[in-house]
Amino acid sequence: MAPALALVGVGRRYTQGEGHIEVLRNADFVIEHGQSVALVAPSGSGKSTLLHLAGLLEHPDDGEVYIDGRATSKLSDAERTRIRRLHVGFVYQFHHLLGEFTALENVALPQMIRGLSKKEANARAGDLLSYLGLGHRLTHRPAELSGGEQQRVAIARALANAPRLLLADEPTGNLDPRTSAHVFGALTELVHATGVAALIATHNLDLAAQMDRRVTLRDGAIVELA
Ligand code: ADP
Ligand code: MG
Repeated sequence: MAPALALVGVGRRYTQGEGHIEVLRNADFVIEHGQSVALVAPSGSGKSTLLHLAGLLEHPDDGEVYIDGRATSKLSDAERTRIRRLHVGFVYQFHHLLGEFTALENVALPQMIRGLSKKEANARAGDLLSYLGLGHRLTHRPAELSGGEQQRVAIARALANAPRLLLADEPTGNLDPRTSAHVFGALTELVHATGVAALIATHNLDLAAQMDRRVTLRDGAIVELA
């Protein structure tokens, strides 16, 4: 089976002032199906860039990004969007939930966009939220939830369409340590229960230790940590 994600010879540069900065250089990286990987690297080293490339939100300057064995660089924007919708789930540092909708609706909507009936979507949304300990918060709007609860809804939303690849960009970065550990625990449990491949950027080494693998960014390359 083709890996969930593969980067081959990927380069990414940005122009900054007079010169340019090379964030990724000839980077190779593979995540197998069902594997969870922590991305642990300092601020400014390219974690978000790597996640955006993996999620087809940005184009590499060199090399190729494969999702599920499929080369993506020559696909149309519509086709990239389709792959992203069907196969990739995102969790950001800030939840980006829709404020006017309830927790249940926030998790059901992506499934309805994909074609499920409201009844089916609500059933799965309820299951996911209950699994994350939010069964008693289904009809709350984001503003009526704590930071940790909001982030758990965002995790449920990212997994709502049963993606093959979950990408999380410092998902607990704005939470206090205790809430962060709780949310990360729920995320880890769900990743293992669903068998989704996951790439999770985090600064927290204790949390990273719960993943199958740990990688960092060094001189533009993706390097395996012990
Ligand atoms: P991290 O997520 O690890 O903090 P980023 O991927 O956001 O790192 O950024 C890596 C480097 O690339 C930083 O030096 C940042 O300033 C630069 N960078 C990121 N996006 C852009 C952009 N759109 N234009 C110019 N420079 C950028
Ligand atoms: Mg970042």
